[in-house]
Amino acid sequence: MIKENLNKVRATVPNDVTLIAVSKTKPVTDLQEAYDAGQRIFGENKALEMRDKHQELPKDIQWHFIGHLQTNKIKYIAPFVSLIHSIDSISLLEAVNKEAVKNNRVIDCLLQFHIAKEETKFGLDIEEAEEMLKSDSYKNLNNINIIGVMGMATFTDDVNQIRNEFKSLKNIFNILKERYFQDKESFKEISMGMSDDYPIAIEEGATMVRVGSKIFGARNYSI
Ligand SMILES: *Cc1c(COP(=O)(O)O)cnc(C)c1O
Repeated sequence: MIKENLNKVRATVPNDVTLIAVSKTKPVTDLQEAYDAGQRIFGENKALEMRDKHQELPKDIQWHFIGHLQTNKIKYIAPFVSLIHSIDSISLLEAVNKEAVKNNRVIDCLLQFHIAKEETKFGLDIEEAEEMLKSDSYKNLNNINIIGVMGMATFTDDVNQIRNEFKSLKNIFNILKERYFQDKESFKEISMGMSDDYPIAIEEGATMVRVGSKIFGARNYSI
């Protein structure tokens, strides 16, 4: 089923939009099935789970970290992670930079913004992001590379609201691009859209979509 699901999703994602297969909680056999169907980019939200799956699976997989990242867990993913979607403070960015230095690499990151109405979702607002980008500590971080923004829409059936939240993230991206990243070609990513709302996100300018249950089936959090 995973292969069929993946092909159905792929058929709806334009070639210039990156599809991240969100495999959190799923066994490596499921990821291998998606890999065998050609998928090479996977998203996980727990550092240890990602490390273990990275150890077991083929090494040409690109691992995207999409969850809340605790500073004491960065060391588990720093050697191999290809993109961290969830930077929401300067202290987290400094901690990622420190682990990147230890591993002698530059780690690509996205700034996560709070665009949803729900209180529970993590993320910056534009003022906090600007404060961060203007700070001296940010300017001294040579082993991280901010390549765009990420956000999650409210969990709702109100399509208009979802669309407006995605528009707000696109707007934030445009502002940051103009004020801080005008000369930086690599600042170009907008990660937005999940199983239920990724088609709207694509219409609103997503360059990356993060799709889990539509590919791997519903998750069972009780195990
Ligand atoms: C779980 C998760 C997804 C994927 O969710 P689905 O609804 O299963 O597609 C996408 N983004 C983030 C940040 C997630 O935590």
